[in-house]
Amino acid sequence: MPTPIRLYNTLTRSEELLQPVHSDGIVRIYSCGPTVYNTAHIGNMRAFLFTDILQRTIRSVGGFDVHWVMNITDVDDKIIRDSTVGSAAWPAALGEQTGDAMENMDRFTRYYEQMFVDDIASLGIRPDHFFAMPRATAYVSQMQNMIRGIVKAGYGYVSDGSVYFSVSAFRKHHAYGRLYTIDAENFRDGVRIDADEYERDSVSDFVLWKGQKPGEPAWEFELDGMQLPGRPGWHIECSAMSKELLGLPFDIHTGGVDLRFPHHEDELAQCTACDGTAGHDFTQARLWVHNEFLEVEGRKMSKSLNNFYTVNDLRQRGLDPLDVRFALISAHYRSVLNFTFDGVAAAGKARQRIQNVIWDLVDRAGDVPNGMVPEGVAAALANDLNVPRATAALHEFVASIPNAPTTEQAAQALGQLRAVNDIYALWTFAPRPTLTIPDTVAALAALRWQARNDKNWAEADRLRVELGAIGWQMKDGKDSYTVEPL
Ligand SMILES: [Zn+2]
Repeated sequence: MPTPIRLYNTLTRSEELLQPVHSDGIVRIYSCGPTVYNTAHIGNMRAFLFTDILQRTIRSVGGFDVHWVMNITDVDDKIIRDSTVGSAAWPAALGEQTGDAMENMDRFTRYYEQMFVDDIASLGIRPDHFFAMPRATAYVSQMQNMIRGIVKAGYGYVSDGSVYFSVSAFRKHHAYGRLYTIDAENFRDGVRIDADEYERDSVSDFVLWKGQKPGEPAWEFELDGMQLPGRPGWHIECSAMSKELLGLPFDIHTGGVDLRFPHHEDELAQCTACDGTAGHDFTQARLWVHNEFLEVEGRKMSKSLNNFYTVNDLRQRGLDPLDVRFALISAHYRSVLNFTFDGVAAAGKARQRIQNVIWDLVDRAGDVPNGMVPEGVAAALANDLNVPRATAALHEFVASIPNAPTTEQAAQALGQLRAVNDIYALWTFAPRPTLTIPDTVAALAALRWQARNDKNWAEADRLRVELGAIGWQMKDGKDSYTVEPL
């Protein structure tokens, strides 16, 4: 039986039951994706992994089909800056730039988009779980239509070849500050901001369409008889793509807490404004779910503190991306996650322990179909996605499996662990790989075991080092030992 799922909704500041908006019963989720001008860091990855666990929980625990959309922002200030001819940020791997700004931007963003797609796949996010991963540049005409609607409704105006959203005009008829409480003195009426990202806590008119500057890539745009070559602002991208691909309102909008304002507040305002009949309670998404930040070793992640990591940095340190996945999902999404290398090591050990149990069960039961997610795990995930409690319940479940289960007991437990893995995505259910131990390794191990039993510690230690030098290690039990690769 599916379990009802409750989530904390930033819009209402309360926990709410997830019930699909659309009668087809499909849960529609939109996640703000990466801006592809460099390699995403693990702070970004936390946000994407949180949504991955969420959408998997909705499928496996909630019993709903999911349409998950994550956009790729492939046009913005930084992308244009870094793909411009002569930019030091242009990747050498891409060869020479051409004189075509649009083409350079396209090659530049596809390069980083591919890295992103590879990175999230290595962290266990399945490409086939996405309903769509739209590039912003493929939806420019939808953005232009939305801007026309906003201007027609009286909430947009043209200035110096750009189009702006008038917050003061909008506030006369609608609430602004629904996702993020804004003090009245922070409204700076009539002040215009061009940048895609701007300081929090000061509210200004934001850009819907940025007029082209010399040398910049641009799209044609006709608005009320004016020709306004330029490009979309960041906020309108997500409003238009979510509307086009999911329909408004959809079920869940996700992102990091830093996106609540201005990005999500402005997305919400635009969606409300472009439809003249949208009332006060109109919302782009029914549930707005935001994840907290990540710290590294107890400090804010930053390049200057030298604790700024990409997935590739961690791979080069020899970490398994799935151990990183386990570590990044370990905290509750509404708590700050302290990412530490000890934490990844602990996650790795816990993952291996459960993998060994799975292999023992596969030895006994072979290939079995999915069962039900154990009740404790399902209940914790359904309760505002409480992963720490779900993981504790998973460990309890694993501990409750008999040491020498019958085939039936093994099959039952294995089916349930398969269902858990549909959410956690950390384990393999293929048979245990057979290990061939070379004769020299076996001989050295036997010698060391003898030396150890003779309490000849110096010799035992020397043999341990010798084994290590050829890439093997011994695990000593009470009466026997095993040998495995380092
Ligand atoms: Zn967005």
